[in-house]
Amino acid sequence: ATPIQRKPEWLKTKLTVNENFREIKRMMRGKTLHTVCEEAKCPNIHECWAVHRTATFMILGDICTRACRFCAVKTGLPTELDWQEPERVAEAVEQMGLKHTVITSVARDDLKDGGAAIFAATIRAVRERNPLTSVEVLIPDFQGDRDALQTVMDARPDVLNHNMETVRRRSDRVRSKAKYDRSLELLKRAKEMQPDIPTKSSIMIGVGEEWNEILETMDDLRSVDCNIMTIGQYLQPTKKHLKLEKYYTPQEFRQLKEEGMNRGFDHVESGPLVRSSYHAHEQVQSAKKS
Ligand code: SF4
Ligand code: SF4
Repeated sequence: ATPIQRKPEWLKTKLTVNENFREIKRMMRGKTLHTVCEEAKCPNIHECWAVHRTATFMILGDICTRACRFCAVKTGLPTELDWQEPERVAEAVEQMGLKHTVITSVARDDLKDGGAAIFAATIRAVRERNPLTSVEVLIPDFQGDRDALQTVMDARPDVLNHNMETVRRRSDRVRSKAKYDRSLELLKRAKEMQPDIPTKSSIMIGVGEEWNEILETMDDLRSVDCNIMTIGQYLQPTKKHLKLEKYYTPQEFRQLKEEGMNRGFDHVESGPLVRSSYHAHEQVQSAKKS
């Protein structure tokens, strides 16, 4: 194998700590809530929290029943269910003054409904306190359970997001327990249940996929009428995690965006630092307009 070069320039972000950000951070410290922004040490945190007013909350605890090879979340036996959590998320959304929020969770394969009821309660609680904030949910596959998905769709999120994570051929290697076709099926069903709610999915590249396979994944997503796609560079969290195989250039990311737009997505966010929820607010706008 060819050795991977040092981290390219375009992946180095400059820190611009602004006052807004410090304030939000102080406020969050007092709450027993988890954000992906902080736990994943997301490079976009300043821009998202202080400028775009977007944040991604991780509900249902921070311990996952699965162990995907790219993911830095802890694996183990999760904690109890906390029915106060939806309300605490709603309060935080209010205090942070968010325009858009993403609610996601670990995979709770230990729960009968995979946590779907808490997702639904969180959507409703956030809405109640923040009628102007758009709510996107980034859900696990609920092990293919149709009723669990229905529970979430009935709460009518503004966007239903479920990640493919990678191309078909690399799925078994990259993800734990999740299946490519089951994820596609989930997106298809979500559309059938609530045809007017935009669906969204994301992959990370640099995990050993071929260019053509990325395009095939786009075709698969369009075949289930998925509206929004995001593509970002995989960055290996530690040496023990899935090996990084390739850094794509900004030019290649632009090409992928074009390929996606030509296939009829309403919005494609594609770039080295793009994360599933990056610029999520703008994506909702463009999906609503179309
Ligand atoms: Fe948080 Fe997502 Fe923004 Fe990163 S891209 S800071 S995880 S909202
Ligand atoms: Fe991480 Fe999600 Fe996989 Fe759990 S299911 S290990 S949170 S990517």
